[in-house]
Amino acid sequence: MMLRYLLLFMMALLTGQTSAASGQVVITNIHYYQEQAASPLSLTQALQRFAQGDFSLFEPPTLTVGQLSLFEHPALTFGIRDRGVWVRLALENQTGAIQARRLTAGMTWLEQVDVFYISSGRTQTYTGGDGLAANEHLLPAVGIVFALDIADGQSEVWLRVQSLDPITLPIRLESLEQAQQTDSKAHLTSGLLYGILLALAAFQLVLYRILKHRNALFYTLYVGTFVVMNFGYTGYGFAWIYPQNPVIQNYSTLFFMVLHAIFGLLFMRSFLKVRKNFPRLDRGLKLYMLVGLLAITTCTLAQTHLLSALWAFGYITLTTLIMILTSLISITKVKDARYFLLAVCCSMAGLCVTSLSTLGLMPYSQLGYHSAEIGVVCEAFILAIIVTNRLKVIENERITTKFLATYDPLTKLFNRHAFEQMTTKLLQQAEHYHAPLSMAILDLDHFKAINDNYGHHVGDMALKHIADIMKHAARPNDIVARWGGEEIVVLMPNTRLTDAHTLCEELRETICNSPLVTADDESIVITASIGLASTKDYPTFSLLFRAADEQLYLAKKLGRNLVKFVLPSKRGSDLNEA
Ligand code: GH3
Ligand code: MG
Ligand code: MG
Repeated sequence: MMLRYLLLFMMALLTGQTSAASGQVVITNIHYYQEQAASPLSLTQALQRFAQGDFSLFEPPTLTVGQLSLFEHPALTFGIRDRGVWVRLALENQTGAIQARRLTAGMTWLEQVDVFYISSGRTQTYTGGDGLAANEHLLPAVGIVFALDIADGQSEVWLRVQSLDPITLPIRLESLEQAQQTDSKAHLTSGLLYGILLALAAFQLVLYRILKHRNALFYTLYVGTFVVMNFGYTGYGFAWIYPQNPVIQNYSTLFFMVLHAIFGLLFMRSFLKVRKNFPRLDRGLKLYMLVGLLAITTCTLAQTHLLSALWAFGYITLTTLIMILTSLISITKVKDARYFLLAVCCSMAGLCVTSLSTLGLMPYSQLGYHSAEIGVVCEAFILAIIVTNRLKVIENERITTKFLATYDPLTKLFNRHAFEQMTTKLLQQAEHYHAPLSMAILDLDHFKAINDNYGHHVGDMALKHIADIMKHAARPNDIVARWGGEEIVVLMPNTRLTDAHTLCEELRETICNSPLVTADDESIVITASIGLASTKDYPTFSLLFRAADEQLYLAKKLGRNLVKFVLPSKRGSDLNEA
């Protein structure tokens, strides 16, 4: 992931243009000079240095395939340093008239860019950069721009750039139509990038709201801090939100870089279960994150820009390496660790391509130039998929656990625990409304013999078969549950004993008349004995259950395949013989 930032900053590098895209106003050559002393040179001193031959000629690499120049935008870069840099552009206007041009000289994070336009002995001076409040020369996502009227013939632009952020100098000299196209492309790219990343982050935030899992929260914060950081260094924040506050502009990007790295680590710790798998590494990571946060906070509060920049870039690079190494050692321990590694490598690869193409080490192309952003988007997509997948698994486990806590896995009837809870509630309601309620306990006859004769799996099939019959026979408000073994209980709310008896009789008959047909086409007749009781005489759960159980025992004793119940106030009455 993170070398990406280093490279993102470098990528922004110099999309300079030494050939004349407009055809008639050209930059004929570029010279540069890095100041040696802490005190800045004046323009006069710089002119003297140039005259002494202290400046170096910038020679962008050239590579053409047929008519096509592959290094369309060569770049100048000077890293992070506290000294100023001078650049001299020699211009030639062959049109015979003054030409309006836009000069882009530097990325939006450069603190100060002084421009001196010299023609026919006259010098015009402009100053831009994010060290100055409400600076009109800073154009978000494009760079630091200056409107120049280029005189006919030869003239010169002198630039002095000073910044404690990476000094990267895209130099473009464009006609106003070209400038418009450049701006539209830059804003479109930014909009697309923010749109995709914010949609992914928002989706994960919704998942977090629903499922309350930290993976989704850390992912949101990880992607969210990238967007805030990007918003800072592209200059949108400074131009739109805090134009009067260069301090926020200069420190927020660096602060959010470190914060982004920390959320990356928090996300990784949670996703790769680092605490469980590598407790010592986890302790080290906690310390590393704390140090990272304290250091950048101190640097920010003390407003030590150079230290902040070096710390932020160093920290984010080291964090990338830590993330790659941790995902590598987690591959054998965590299911999706390799996808995590793939995601991190994606953004690394994008970053490499961008940096190589902007540094001129591989042919320049739009795709290559934007591959760092593409890498980030790919990373965010892969991570979003694996986080969503992980959450799906967790949610399924939760549903299964909930199911097992309520249902019997074999018959899919309610289990004993759920039955007791529901019955207790229904008993209270029945008492409150003086409504009748009946309970039946059913036990399969000679069930052991089925297991013994046909095998346990046929016994299981028989249990499912009976459970299905009972589900089918039950009315919407009846509650059917597996009490244990081959005993099934039925609770019948708002049902008097006589009605319950009729229902149980029908059920007994249905069971008896619905033999189980095995895979070998054998027909096994199953019968059941049923004990029945009603709340009229047995108001509590235990009394009611015991009464029904006693009747079941009686049914077994009297020969099985019977329904037995207690007549109110006349316990043990035998109404029905099957
Ligand atoms: P009775 O008519 O007296 O009820 O005779 P029985 O054989 O049905 O009674 P007993 O309680 O002796 O046997 C119940 C058997 O049910 C014993 C046990 O192996 C079997 N059983 C309990 N749970 C399961 C199950 O989930 N699957 C299968 N296949 N058998 C089970
Ligand atoms: Mg039995
Ligand atoms: Mg039994």
